[in-house]
Amino acid sequence: MPEYQIDKIADYFKPGGSVAKAVPGFVYRTEQVSLAENIAAAFTNREFLVAEAGTGVGKTFAYLLPAFLWAVREKERVVISTRTKALQQQIIGRDIPELLEATGVELKFMEAKGRENYLCWNKYIAILAGKQSLNESQQLFISKILNWAENTRTGDRKELSLDAELMKNWSLLAADRRGCRRDLCSYHDKCFRLKMMRNLHKADIIVVNHALLLSDLQVNNTLLPEYRYLIVDEAHHFDRESFDKLSCSFSYLENGDLLKALYYKDKKYSRGYLQHLKNRYPNLTEPLNTAGQLVSRAMQLLDDVFSILSSSHRSKDSNYSLVIEERHLEQKWFARLFDTYLEWQTTMRVLLDKLRNIEKELAGQEEEGEISSFASILQETAENAYVIMEENLNREDSINWIDYRNGAASALTSSYIMIGKILQERLYHRLDSMIMVSATLAIEDSFDYYLDKMGLIDYHSDERVKTLLQKSPFDYEKQAILYTVTSMPPPNSQEHSQAAARVLLNIIDAAGGGILVLFTARKQLQEVSDAIRPLCQERDIRLLVQDQDGASGLLLEEFIAGKDSVLMGLETFWEGIDVKGEALRCVVIVKLPFRSPSDPFCIAAEKHCRFQRRNSFQHFMLPDGAMRFKQGTGRLIRSEADSGVVVVLDHRLEKSSYGRTFKNSIPINRTLSLSEEELAGEIRKFMGS
Ligand code: SF4
Repeated sequence: MPEYQIDKIADYFKPGGSVAKAVPGFVYRTEQVSLAENIAAAFTNREFLVAEAGTGVGKTFAYLLPAFLWAVREKERVVISTRTKALQQQIIGRDIPELLEATGVELKFMEAKGRENYLCWNKYIAILAGKQSLNESQQLFISKILNWAENTRTGDRKELSLDAELMKNWSLLAADRRGCRRDLCSYHDKCFRLKMMRNLHKADIIVVNHALLLSDLQVNNTLLPEYRYLIVDEAHHFDRESFDKLSCSFSYLENGDLLKALYYKDKKYSRGYLQHLKNRYPNLTEPLNTAGQLVSRAMQLLDDVFSILSSSHRSKDSNYSLVIEERHLEQKWFARLFDTYLEWQTTMRVLLDKLRNIEKELAGQEEEGEISSFASILQETAENAYVIMEENLNREDSINWIDYRNGAASALTSSYIMIGKILQERLYHRLDSMIMVSATLAIEDSFDYYLDKMGLIDYHSDERVKTLLQKSPFDYEKQAILYTVTSMPPPNSQEHSQAAARVLLNIIDAAGGGILVLFTARKQLQEVSDAIRPLCQERDIRLLVQDQDGASGLLLEEFIAGKDSVLMGLETFWEGIDVKGEALRCVVIVKLPFRSPSDPFCIAAEKHCRFQRRNSFQHFMLPDGAMRFKQGTGRLIRSEADSGVVVVLDHRLEKSSYGRTFKNSIPINRTLSLSEEELAGEIRKFMGS
């Protein structure tokens, strides 16, 4: 068994060491060793470490190695959380096996996934028994998975390689909360999801995504086994993910579907689960009839609640969020909404009583678990609505909003404005050590913004939180340059898109493709892509536009394969893209990436700043924008061999007082302000053509 010694970590990574020998293409980097040693020290000293690891440091191996050694020596479970499934799979499928083999460490590791990834036996058997009528595509799907379902050992959908269209039917079989009969399920012992959860208890290393990690906090840690050592990768997203996942939501569709699954009446027939019970248990006809009537009433009131919300506000956008403010509470529509909501709540209470009585009548029967699941989820729904509409509405530490989709109200949500405080209460206090790591956490080399928003500033002053800025090993001085086109019209003017299209064509002519263009608004993406598409065709340049030319993953594959393409995209493309070499030699930032001020996350941050009597632009919008800018520009240089240019089409980078915060936050030091006319010549000069 390996000794857990901090000074041994360097030995594993050194030239000729076990990692270098076993991992093809491994490059020794002092930055990686330093990061790994700091992580090891944080485990040993029971500290928190917030570490920025610039591109190329090799952060995954840098945290995996100390995690392995710690888990083995201390017999402590280490949980690793990532934001994206892609990284989660890379760690599970490649990085952990590779490093285990290289180091000879023996341990058990597992991926923790949401229940929707697993086949539910109960649903599968019900379908085979013909309890559900299937359309053609569903029948085809079932016929294709039969062999797999009978032989799979994991029940994990990732083993299936059916096309995306057929996989849309996966929900027919997927485990879900509503249908799960838990302890009362006849397939309890062979349930894939429960098996996965039991196996997690045997794992030394668990790899999870932020969404599941945070869901576990929401349900008092009943999903994951106990852990005291946590590594949060892609940590720059942890605040937003926490804001979203630790929120409380009341959705029209989810509630409507749930009620309809229980009971609904079409023109001729009564349908739903209560009707099924009525056919099977004629002795329960009376209570089931009453419950059915209550479901219909609850559905009507739910419709009323959401139609009041839909008519309360109009916007030129069809998808947006409206934060409920104090002034709304005084308006007539809100009074109507509240009365209707209270009636819905009363109806739900009576309905729940009825369902619990029916559950008692069904004690010992197959359906006891199913009706119990319905009742539990309905109760949770009613509690969520209570939290949003009554408990949190006037609370200063919460923010409540209405989501509109296609112009109609779709959900009510409530979240916390000080997410760091909630994380302190629910997560930090029970951890011995936590490592938060990402390529973008510091602003102008300072971690204050990140520590503050994550609720770690108090811990920091107690010396429990350490920070580490591990800069990229790449030679940015030689490899990259940033140009700001200062002759551009103001970024919020009508003329900006037109000018952006014109400058973009100059860039295409100078660079010949290999260009990633990052937008902040769909409308502008549309305007610019419409303007340049025919001209790209004339130049024989492949233009790949998000949501116009295919799914994001496919666009990226084409971009890499094409070498001389132009890829234009929104938020998805600002990070997580790792294109090395010639295929990406120019990144264009159309506007500085400030978030929309109407985003509830921004409004929450603004409210938080107000409480602290701080300027929200200085303390939130600016550092947040700078962090996203750092992500976007970070797409350019991905290896020692890369070189290229960043072009910013937003003159605020040079002309505003805050522009330097953006510039000082990125590793590219060579910058040049120039006019539209000068740009193409400079690009050619840098690219040596
Ligand atoms: S325990 Fe739940 S998820 Fe598992 S087979 Fe039974 S109903 Fe499905």
